[in-house]
Amino acid sequence: MTDLHDARLTIDLDAVAANFAALKARAGDQELAPAVKADAYGLGAARVADRLWAEGARSFYVARLAEGVALRAALGDRAAAIYVLDGATPGAGDALEGADLIPVLNSLPQIEAWNAQARSGRLKAALHLDTGMNRLGLRPEELKVLLGATDRLKRLDLDLVISHLACADVPDHPMNARQRERFAEAVALLPDARKSFANSAGLFLGEAYRFDQARPGISLYGGGPEGRPHPEIRAVATVEAPILQVRVVPRGETVGYGATWTAPETTRIAIVGAGYADGVPRASPPNGEVWFDGARRPMRGRISMDLMAIDVTDCDAARPGAMVELLGPNLPVDDAAAAANATAYELLTHIAPRARRIYR
Ligand SMILES: *Cc1c(COP(=O)(O)O)cnc(C)c1O
Repeated sequence: MTDLHDARLTIDLDAVAANFAALKARAGDQELAPAVKADAYGLGAARVADRLWAEGARSFYVARLAEGVALRAALGDRAAAIYVLDGATPGAGDALEGADLIPVLNSLPQIEAWNAQARSGRLKAALHLDTGMNRLGLRPEELKVLLGATDRLKRLDLDLVISHLACADVPDHPMNARQRERFAEAVALLPDARKSFANSAGLFLGEAYRFDQARPGISLYGGGPEGRPHPEIRAVATVEAPILQVRVVPRGETVGYGATWTAPETTRIAIVGAGYADGVPRASPPNGEVWFDGARRPMRGRISMDLMAIDVTDCDAARPGAMVELLGPNLPVDDAAAAANATAYELLTHIAPRARRIYR
């Protein structure tokens, strides 16, 4: 049984489409290949990819093999290119090939494994070059090794070469230009492959960062490119939860576990039916806020598993059943994240499955 007044997550697919269009305007001639890893940052990869396909997206990125298999099934006979960022991990070959997934090959052993997987036929592949992040991808000296022994690639259609920016959310960070130069140098050695470089934030760094394809994630889902709200990016996720009870806390009494907050004056407190099990970061107070009855209201005391307290002194509308906005058009995900010392990425991916999902 679903209580109509339980915490709910509303996903605005029109906003996803609007953000796709806004990023497209930033992309020049580049293809936009949405990152729908981690279930489209917690918002539902099948529904999001379905909508983005309708908006013209033809390539998608997932992180894990299982995400790729699920996305292929969800897209049915729509011939999308699905890139798997983990690459050709040990034992994944048959499943990758079976679901027509393109691994982003991250190391010389992965290249060998995928080339061996091709046996007599040919397989599509993407190649990840590391340009300074030191996470996944071939180092420049490994690319030299590869190019000195191209039979390692002989059964592969090298479709795309990618690299990933470490500091794109800080536009004047010197890493950006350094990585861009390294990428340009490396791809000059692979003239036949298409090139993919920018993430969401990279799309805001200007024309020098344009290649053939960009891979936006967070800004499709409402996060600004610099970790704060951006006028071109619309909110996608709205999280609401009901007030369960309103109480008056006399001056000098405390609220919640650990008695961390003491009422400086007599205070009206609304207890809201959402807690860290619903994805509310435990670190949200003392800076955390919710939106209720036309204004931001501060959180008080610690977040519990299922409950939290907000200050509704001077607010007559607070009563059981009234819904409070924890995240959404009035409370941007970047602001809620900043209050909790977290990122929009963490907040979105932590919205727990307990919340009812509604698509609009
Ligand atoms: C997650 C990811 C992206 C998308 O990044 P955003 O910052 O969410 O736009 C792009 N490329 C790679 C390699 C990624 O891991």
